[in-house]
Amino acid sequence: NEGTGAWPYRRVRLSSGKTAITFRNRATTYLELDDRVTRLAHALRSLGIGRGDRLALLSTNHPAYLEALFASGLLGAIFVPLNARLTAPEVKYALRDSGAAVFIHSREFGEIARSAAGAATRVVLDGAADPDSVGYEALIAAADSSRIDEPVSHDDPCFIMYTSGTTGRPKGVVLTHGNIVFSAMNAIVDLDLDSHEVALVCAPLFHTAALDFVALPTLLKGGNVVIEEGFEPGRILQVLERERISYTFGVPTMFDALSAHPDWETTDLSAIRRVIVAAAPVPPRTLRTYTERGIKICQGYGLTETGPGALILPPDDVERKLGTAGVPHFFTDVRIVDADGREAAAGEHGEIQICGPNVMREYWNQPDATDDAFTDGRWFRSGDIGVADADGFVTVVDRLKDLIISGGENIYPAEVEAAVLEMPGVTGCAVLGVPHEKWGEVGCAIVSLANGCELDHDQLVAFLAPRLAKYKIPKTLVTVDEIPRNATGKVRKDLLRGQFA
Ligand code: AMP
Ligand code: MG
Ligand code: MG
Repeated sequence: NEGTGAWPYRRVRLSSGKTAITFRNRATTYLELDDRVTRLAHALRSLGIGRGDRLALLSTNHPAYLEALFASGLLGAIFVPLNARLTAPEVKYALRDSGAAVFIHSREFGEIARSAAGAATRVVLDGAADPDSVGYEALIAAADSSRIDEPVSHDDPCFIMYTSGTTGRPKGVVLTHGNIVFSAMNAIVDLDLDSHEVALVCAPLFHTAALDFVALPTLLKGGNVVIEEGFEPGRILQVLERERISYTFGVPTMFDALSAHPDWETTDLSAIRRVIVAAAPVPPRTLRTYTERGIKICQGYGLTETGPGALILPPDDVERKLGTAGVPHFFTDVRIVDADGREAAAGEHGEIQICGPNVMREYWNQPDATDDAFTDGRWFRSGDIGVADADGFVTVVDRLKDLIISGGENIYPAEVEAAVLEMPGVTGCAVLGVPHEKWGEVGCAIVSLANGCELDHDQLVAFLAPRLAKYKIPKTLVTVDEIPRNATGKVRKDLLRGQFA
């Protein structure tokens, strides 16, 4: 078995008694993890899961994510983690589209699960809740524990993850065992992960970053994965100190919430060796807050389709190249391609394209979308704009489709948003293009403010005038209570457009 399913038993040969996972203050050793995974695989097999079959999971963060992934990997089956924020019809779509035969969920999602499960067998994490379901722990306890030895190769699918696409129907990104192995190797090599790592999973495990870049590489190295169910800043600070966390991943809003918490100053963060921030534009002040505290905050860049890591700012370059997303991961290649399809020179903007063993093979059952996603055969088109400096360090500029063209000039909303976020009292900002008679499009700033703060358009213009060219300064300002974001901290521009454009 070349796949991830073999990791627990391979790890037992090296470090059986070490703690693999900590959850709700309980430690699970590698020996116990291997035993649970093996039993779960037998149980799934008795429910009809075999090679190529799909197994879905809907829950907040829970060790079952890892157990189910490894167990499917032992059988050559395909794991389908579902976004816990989906509505019942969206869950139903993902279950139908993937054709999941078994559906594991926690009790809090019981209602959605019952209405969406269709023919899938429901397995409930916190114990069978109704006669149509079976309990997860009971299944594991009753199952056989003999070694399972199925031939699984790097080319076999490991999991399908549905992307948050804002247009069209959701696409299932198929990542193979080889994709996962190389993503984990990229993280290990470039972030220098070792067997003493205590890694915190506080971002959702239904996204590639927490799963492929924190949990799996840490388990591959024999480190300890600490799983938190949700993100409550005060509690996360306590965990960082108490567990002596050495590594974690977060989206920009998570890091901002930690540094804004009253306990931030007094929390001991000295065990942290480096953290990754990615998934959305990273405000400069977030980077400054962490580097000023001596924490190496490495900006990463990638997509679900690339497993996710494409670019990473190496820990040793954090001070020198702050604000960039760094260089391609070790096993990955990245190029910047201009509008004419030529490779852009240093300093020139273009689309970020990615190639390597971490890049997905296909979208599940969507050959046309797969074909559109690649160019020159192997290069995945990110739809994001980037620019490399003379040393090859890439700055992520914005998404191609968010670009505003005003009087023939390109405005990158992310650049304007970053400038607005430097204003004291501003807690969130999104800049949208709105139609304009003379200029075609102009920027509209949507801003959220700290309690008690006020802001009018004249003040905004006065603040931005010395910082941005005139055409980039938003022509209108709207203040809102909160900027809507998805589970990975990305601003929901689709919602804002519907409301304000
Ligand atoms: P997803 O497929 O949900 O993982 O989202 C991928 C998208 O997140 C990319 O296409 C980018 O638009 C965005 N993204 C990821 N990392 C960064 C970053 N460091 N800066 C700006 N945007 C990012
Ligand atoms: Mg996407
Ligand atoms: Mg093509």
